[in-house]
Amino acid sequence: MSEGLVLPKFSVGVGDRFAHQAKAQLAACIKAGEAGVEVVPVWNKSNREHMIIGTDPNQTRKAADAAVKELGWSKPYFLDADHINLKTVDRFIEPCDFFTLDVADEIGKPAKPEDVDAFVARHSELIGTVTIPRIAEPFKTDVAFVKGVANKFLAAVQDAGKIYRYLVEKKGKGKFVAEVSMDETDSPQTPVELLIILAAIADEQIPIQTIAPKFTGRFNKGVDYVGDVAQFTKEFEEDLAAIAFAIKRYGLPENLKLSVHSGSDKFSIYKAIHEAVVKFDAGVHLKTAGTTWLEELIGLAEAGGSGLEIAKEVYREAFAHEEELRAPYATVIDIDDAKLPKPEEVDGWTSKQFTDALRHDQSNAAYNSSFRQLLHVGFKIAAKMGDKYLNALEANEEIVAKNVTTNLYDRHIRPVFVGK
Ligand SMILES: [Zn+2]
Repeated sequence: MSEGLVLPKFSVGVGDRFAHQAKAQLAACIKAGEAGVEVVPVWNKSNREHMIIGTDPNQTRKAADAAVKELGWSKPYFLDADHINLKTVDRFIEPCDFFTLDVADEIGKPAKPEDVDAFVARHSELIGTVTIPRIAEPFKTDVAFVKGVANKFLAAVQDAGKIYRYLVEKKGKGKFVAEVSMDETDSPQTPVELLIILAAIADEQIPIQTIAPKFTGRFNKGVDYVGDVAQFTKEFEEDLAAIAFAIKRYGLPENLKLSVHSGSDKFSIYKAIHEAVVKFDAGVHLKTAGTTWLEELIGLAEAGGSGLEIAKEVYREAFAHEEELRAPYATVIDIDDAKLPKPEEVDGWTSKQFTDALRHDQSNAAYNSSFRQLLHVGFKIAAKMGDKYLNALEANEEIVAKNVTTNLYDRHIRPVFVGK
């Protein structure tokens, strides 16, 4: 099924809200190469972020191309139209070559009964005792179960097929990487559900190279994983086994791999991901959220002077507009209002106090996850500042870039791809 553009085994999805850090992000991939592991960058920015900031995917393309040229990167790189659907995809078609087909809204909407029946009839291998190499306990299923799963996911997969075919018509076959994402929904998909979904995706003839299920546990933006790490590890390994099986059984692309929409900073499961990927000789795509923007703020705060003033101003405004800022992210942030310092207090902070509270270092008692999450969704405030913010980034380029590269490499790329 795979022809045309191929996503390499290891890839990292990076967000760059203000399109100023592509070079610093690419520098982290170069460091991975120096450590002996090829990790290619995929710049991702969803329609939601473009709408909030008032940017366009073409700006992301320009920034990525410029960084690649400047640093002499000769390996592949991609631009991800993150979480798009038929309503939002159009302006991404030209600049992007990676499309995350978001079908979460269709999950649970029943497909046509005749389509469900046809799916069940076509896939007798999914009914009864389903033995998958490297999964200790075979899955036990029956017709009612497979029908139930098909009823939950078939309409979503058919929707992905529609978006995929629309893209083929506009861009041409093999001219882009396709991912199907199901992470922004209420309940996680189990490994056996993932297998059934992959069978449906193969039926729909979508040559996906990555799939983003919703994993067990909470993946809030910019903070650590909340959940049972042992359960996550077990399911992650079973997902890898299910994918390897589906590639052979259904002829999906050889390089098909999991895409972990991490929301960034899932430090407590990165080790498990690394070990599982090594154990299964699998690839993985780690999609991080726009926490690069927080590194910009950390850099500005660390610079002191007017940089620190801007960081404080962003907090003051974010505090005043908390309701509005958190609304679009309601399902992926947990801010405890009681833990938010008053802006008057923050106004008196030194650079160190500000960066200690913001930087995601769990060993630092001054780290404040509510403060961090509020600022994470507060990029709209910086966007409103316009040139004042962008000029500050440019004036403090070096210290900001250092924070961006160090964070991306030391806290994400190294634990997931290189191993400690
Ligand atoms: Zn996602």
